[in-house]
Amino acid sequence: MSRMQELSFDNRFRALGAAFYTPLRPTGFANPHLVAANPDAAALLGLDPEVLHSPEFLAWASGNAEAPGSAPLAMVYSGHQFGGYTPQLGDGRGLLLGQVRTAQGLIDLHLKGAGKTPYSRFADGRAVLRSTIREYLAGEALHGLGVPSTRALAIAGSDEPVIRERVETGAMLIRLARTHVRFGSFEYFHYQQRPELVRALADHVIETYLPAAAHSSEPYVALFRHAVQATARLIAHWQAVGFCHGVMNTDNLSILGETLDFGPYGFLDAYDPRHICNHSDHEGRYAYDRQPAIGLWNCNALAHALSTLIPVPALREVLLEYEPLLLAELRRHQRAKLGLELAQSGDDALSDDLLALLAAGGIDYTLFFRRLCDFRPDTDNQPLRDLCPDRDAFDAWARRYAARLAAEPRAAAERAAAMRAVNPKYVLRNYLAEIAIRKAEDEGDYSEIEALRRVLARPFAEQPECERYAAPPPDWGRKLAISCSS
Ligand code: AMP
Ligand code: MG
Repeated sequence: MSRMQELSFDNRFRALGAAFYTPLRPTGFANPHLVAANPDAAALLGLDPEVLHSPEFLAWASGNAEAPGSAPLAMVYSGHQFGGYTPQLGDGRGLLLGQVRTAQGLIDLHLKGAGKTPYSRFADGRAVLRSTIREYLAGEALHGLGVPSTRALAIAGSDEPVIRERVETGAMLIRLARTHVRFGSFEYFHYQQRPELVRALADHVIETYLPAAAHSSEPYVALFRHAVQATARLIAHWQAVGFCHGVMNTDNLSILGETLDFGPYGFLDAYDPRHICNHSDHEGRYAYDRQPAIGLWNCNALAHALSTLIPVPALREVLLEYEPLLLAELRRHQRAKLGLELAQSGDDALSDDLLALLAAGGIDYTLFFRRLCDFRPDTDNQPLRDLCPDRDAFDAWARRYAARLAAEPRAAAERAAAMRAVNPKYVLRNYLAEIAIRKAEDEGDYSEIEALRRVLARPFAEQPECERYAAPPPDWGRKLAISCSS
């Protein structure tokens, strides 16, 4: 498709009716400019990437014009934030522009930073350049790793001052998602005591996205099961790639299990199970090692919200499936990271003991597993050994690993190739995002955003010319404080 006008809008969410949203136009930027344009996301929409560089597109991405067929609206929702219920949230600064039919199914187009809405509370309705760059890169990084995530089509920048801890500039991001229906969307109508609207929303999700559930004898149970299982799978995958979301409030959890709403997220550098990426999360509620349990907590909150549709025993039964599924998924990822094709009884301990070794030594998670792909039972594995402050502990573990590999049917080269397909060379380390942000803010140079996007789109490939992006953080980049403000 060579023109935006050819996008085929099918605004199903809007058809749900006025209780679910407020129709609203974006508040555009004066003098906008294009900051980033993602050709891969354009392809997903069936758009010629060149379109993203046209003046028409910029007008659209900066809230100054509407694509034909778009019908913007602010969605209402609520949610549990840090464990407490907030009865009224909603799109305070974003608008669902509409839904587009693509070869991959229906895709939401959402404009983040589009100005005040009835759900803005006391905030300004804007997003800043820094946070839009972080969101743009995170979606692509996760997608590249094979983790379900919203993605970003483009960023439009402005010279509009936006006040956070300091004065920054406003930007808008066009986000692509399978849906923007959140756990908190159901909670809103449940706690408003509008069970008929909970039902209408559930029917919408089932009809639009879950044809198998629609045909099951208990469609609502099937919807809930889908949400619980997708959440368990998603979080196991986050753990495996060392991703920390940072703000796992129920309003930030997609009903379809895509990673949604990037704020103070982070990928692990040194392996630290108790890592807290959100500077404002003083109690570590959303620490890396708590994510699996918080996922279940959130599924419980969703269960409450669906309790007028599904009898309690059925809700309980589905909730009980979360933990075994998450653990099985986690173990599956861990075995793959170790290159183990067979499942044997000591594998869990082998993996747990390795993680304990990494934690004790503060060893870089991504780098260690990438080097592990070249592990040779018949050598002392110096490149791995060099990463470990406690050489004896590494040697002891390596002996066990070598013995375990002897039981594997795969040839070493084949195993190494399989391991390289699950142990990324490149992840979106905080300091890499920070470099791109500083260049953008200080010099108006956006080239690093595109350079990073390209590397992260193929995180498992060697890309020898991009070696520098695989390096662990320099001293200044180790403990960057990432606050909630965005
Ligand atoms: P978040 O923590 O980013 O998921 O946001 C929580 C809630 O605050 C959501 O309802 C957002 O729409 C709203 N919100 C966050 N930032 C702003 C802002 N700058 N202006 C208006 N609403 C905001
Ligand atoms: Mg949010």
